[in-house]
Amino acid sequence: MEEQRKARVNALISEGILKTDRVIQAMLAVPREKFLPERLHEFSYVDSPLPICQGQTISAPHMVAIMNEALELEPGNIVLEIGAGSGYHAATIAEIVAPRRGERQGHVYTVEIIEELADFARRNLENADYGNKVTVIHADGSEGYPRRAPYERILVTAGAPQIPQPLIEQLKPGGILIIPVGGLYMFQSLKIARKDEQGKLTVEDRGGCAFVLLRGKYGWKT
Ligand code: SAH
Repeated sequence: MEEQRKARVNALISEGILKTDRVIQAMLAVPREKFLPERLHEFSYVDSPLPICQGQTISAPHMVAIMNEALELEPGNIVLEIGAGSGYHAATIAEIVAPRRGERQGHVYTVEIIEELADFARRNLENADYGNKVTVIHADGSEGYPRRAPYERILVTAGAPQIPQPLIEQLKPGGILIIPVGGLYMFQSLKIARKDEQGKLTVEDRGGCAFVLLRGKYGWKT
């Protein structure tokens, strides 16, 4: 498995997707197989999304890499993820913001609307030794998680109709928010929003991607 993990990371480097040492080391450190149901273990390092349960998917390694590069993560960051799913993406972020060696210990809060998946993510994270660096919350993350706001980084791993206002409010000045905007079977575009120190938001468009739908109050009503 470790050899397959290294091979996938090397492929993502040669494709020009993985660039930053921290992001590379994080993907080398997290065993993706620990975040998948056992019957899918043999596909752990295929560069594709895989089904976890209830029609939801663990994101493809290249998508995790693209988002982690764009997030410009730093040790000590307090990060909010919407869509815990398997917990894998949150673990790769925890590797960077709360490094095993180092004084600056950040934290990841990850919100999941499906209770069964919130439990699945929590179990996987504990099993892979991220239980004290990542907190899984069962709630509607389209409203963010105001209890621990503001966040230096926010990522949404489900396609939204637009950027939910509560997420903009919960982003710290100087922070970065990444979110796919668009519906299922529609064009989804990965948006990278930066909030400057005055609180002004600038949004950049990174082009096409495909995620499951964001549900909840600021999500799709289907
Ligand atoms: N980041 C995940 C993949 C997420 S798939 C991983 O690494 O495995 C998207 C997830 O978003 C699904 O689990 C889905 O249930 C969840 N989701 C959809 N709408 C949500 C909402 N409003 N709040 C929280 N989670 C939501």
